[in-house]
Amino acid sequence: MSMTFAGRVAVVTGAGAGIGKATALAFAAEGLCVVAADVDVHGGQETVRQIQAAGGIALFVRCNVTLEADVKQLMEQTVNTYGRLDYAFNNAGIEIEQGRLADGTQDEFDAIMGVNVKGVWLCMKYQLPLMVAQGGGVIVNTASVAGLGAAPKMSIYSASKHAVIGLTKSAAIEYAKKSIRVNAICPGVIDTDMFRRAGEADPRKAQYAAAVHPMGRIGTAEEVASAVLYLCSDGAAFTTGHALAVDGGALAI
Ligand code: NAD
Repeated sequence: MSMTFAGRVAVVTGAGAGIGKATALAFAAEGLCVVAADVDVHGGQETVRQIQAAGGIALFVRCNVTLEADVKQLMEQTVNTYGRLDYAFNNAGIEIEQGRLADGTQDEFDAIMGVNVKGVWLCMKYQLPLMVAQGGGVIVNTASVAGLGAAPKMSIYSASKHAVIGLTKSAAIEYAKKSIRVNAICPGVIDTDMFRRAGEADPRKAQYAAAVHPMGRIGTAEEVASAVLYLCSDGAAFTTGHALAVDGGALAI
């Protein structure tokens, strides 16, 4: 795999924890300048502290991806600080287990769609013109296995992740001739705060999570990060509009 990352610039949303944090650390370890964005100031600053302690280059920007002004400012600050934007990992997302479909509330619907769908759309809306102007770039959006199939008791979340894949595929085609690639990553159950919160809410969920993966275990944030780096790398130069499962074989059943 050809990794030509050194000196390039990456934005990661949801970089204060879990998959986003692991990917920000992995980008920085490859020599990229990383803009770590999160609504959680403490988490985002801690990610930057760890990158800098390891000798890497990073900047924290507080950003709520549901707010257009925040997203616009995130991209402006990235270009003002590092001069360009090569890679974007639009990963910030929330999960609310809302029971069966009829039990969900309008507030839950708006909250999930706001972060998971509008957030990804707003990020791409402000990233794509920058990438067009500089002659190329790569975007990876975080969907989920729940974006490729059913997710009982999480129908709104599942719909939001299907929407992320729709945005990804459409953008990939619209910008394919502009040297911009757009792909999605579809993790299975990954050991992050999100998974631990769900496990605390329903211990049975944690207990059975490993069993839904043929590998017999849940995944790690670092395993998702390495798939994101692959999609960003020149090794994936002919891959766009793809939704890549990182799920221990769960969707192959
Ligand atoms: P996490 O909760 O550990 O981390 C998510 C991060 O996003 C947090 O730092 C949080 O502060 C941030 N965030 C939340 N709302 C935000 C907003 N409005 N603006 C900016 N930042 C915001 O979650 P994770 O498990 O690392 O999940 C990351 C992504 O992966 C999400 O999109 C999630 O849906 C997806 N995913 C997770 C799993 C899993 O099992 N953990 C599986 C499939 C997909």
